[in-house]
Amino acid sequence: MPALPSHCPDLSTLYLGAADVARIVERIGLRASLVEVAARIGSALRRWPEFSKVARTADHSRQGVIELMPTSDAQDYAFKYVNGHPGNTRLGLPTVMAFGVLADVATGQPRLLAALSLATAIRTAAMSALVAQHLARPDSRTMALIGNGAQAEFQALAFAEMLGIRSLRLFDTDPAASARLVSNLHGQGLRLLTCASVAEAVRGADIVTTATADKALATVIRPEMVEPGMHFNAIGGDCPGKTELAAEVLRQASVFVEYEPQTRIEGDLQLLPADFAVTEFWQVLSGARPGRRSAAEVTVFDSVGFALEDHAVLGFLEQAALALGLGQRLQLLPPLADPKNLFGSLAPAAVSAAMRPVLLAA
Ligand code: NAD
Repeated sequence: MPALPSHCPDLSTLYLGAADVARIVERIGLRASLVEVAARIGSALRRWPEFSKVARTADHSRQGVIELMPTSDAQDYAFKYVNGHPGNTRLGLPTVMAFGVLADVATGQPRLLAALSLATAIRTAAMSALVAQHLARPDSRTMALIGNGAQAEFQALAFAEMLGIRSLRLFDTDPAASARLVSNLHGQGLRLLTCASVAEAVRGADIVTTATADKALATVIRPEMVEPGMHFNAIGGDCPGKTELAAEVLRQASVFVEYEPQTRIEGDLQLLPADFAVTEFWQVLSGARPGRRSAAEVTVFDSVGFALEDHAVLGFLEQAALALGLGQRLQLLPPLADPKNLFGSLAPAAVSAAMRPVLLAA
C-alpha cells in the first residue's frame, strides 16, 4: 500500500472492551455513573422529537431473541446488538449480552465500538430510577426486588441513590441468586430481607421491581398482591411471549412506556387490547402529561429498553473514555490516500490469478 499523505483523515474507531467499560465505571464510581447516565437519558428524552425512532428488529428462536436497536439525532447515530436467552445461565452464559456503535451522522464514520453488557445494566437501572422519580410516591423507602440476577445490584443501587430506597425485600426462584445479591450489596447501607415467596416480598413495599427471566407468559405479580400507591418497575417482560404482570394488574394501573409501538409488541402490554391507553414517559418529562396523580394511584413502568437509552450511554462512555485516556484505536476502515481508490488498499499480489488456487484450497 502506498504511504499515506499527512492530510489523510483519521479513520480510526475508539474501541472499549468489557474491561475498559468496567474501568470507566470504577474510576467514576457506580453510583455516580448511574446518576450521570440517568441525567443523560433525561436530557435525551426532553429532545424526543429530534430522534429517529423505530421498534427494534427482533430475531426470535425457541431459546431466546437477538435484537438490533438503532436511533439517531442530528449528530450521532447509535445501534446496539443485544440478546435475551433466559436458559443461558444454565450453560454458564449471561442471559443478556450486548455491544454497540456510535457514528457521525454527517459522514457515517463509526467513532466508537463498545462492549455494552455492563452499560446495559447501568442504563436500564438509570432509566428505571429516573421514571420512578416521577411515578413512585416521594416517601418510598422500601422496594421489593423479584428476580435477583445480573440486573439486580444495579437496580438496587440506582433506587438507593436516586430515590432514597433504604430497604430491599428480595425473592428469586434460585436462592443462590438472592444470596449473591445480599453478599454483593453488603456495606451499601441497605436493609436486605430475603423472602420465601413473591407475595411475601411484595407485601408492604412502596416500589416493586420485577427483573425475572423466563420465556413465558408468566404472572409473577397477581392482582391480589397490588396495594394502593405501589409503583411497579417491570423490566423482565420485554419480548413477545415473555411477561411478568397479570393483565388485570395493568388494567387497574396507570401504565407508562418508553416507545409505545415497541412496547405494544414486547412489553407486558402485549396482554392488553391495542386501544388500552398508555403514556410515553417522555411526555411526563416534557410536562405534557401527568405522572403520578395521587398517593393511592397504582403506576406501572412497562420497561422493555429503548434505543435512545443506549444512545445516551454510548455518549457517556465515549466522553468518559476520552477524558480518562482509556480504550484502543481500531482500524475498522481502510485508510486511503485517495478515497475513491479502495482497490489500491490491496497489495497487487493479492489480486493476481496466481493466488486463486491458494484461496480455493483454504
Ligand atoms: P438473569 O438471568 O441474570 O436473572 C434473572 C433471574 O430471575 C434469575 O436469577 C432467575 O432465577 C430469576 N427468575 C426467573 N423466574 C422467576 C420467577 N418466576 N420468580 C422469581 N425469580 C425468577 O437475567 P438479568 O440479566 O438479570 O435480566 C432480567 C430480565 O430483565 C430479563 O428478562 C432480561 O431480558 C430483562 N432486561 C430488560 C431490560 C430492559 O431495558 N427492560 C434490560 C436488561 C434486561
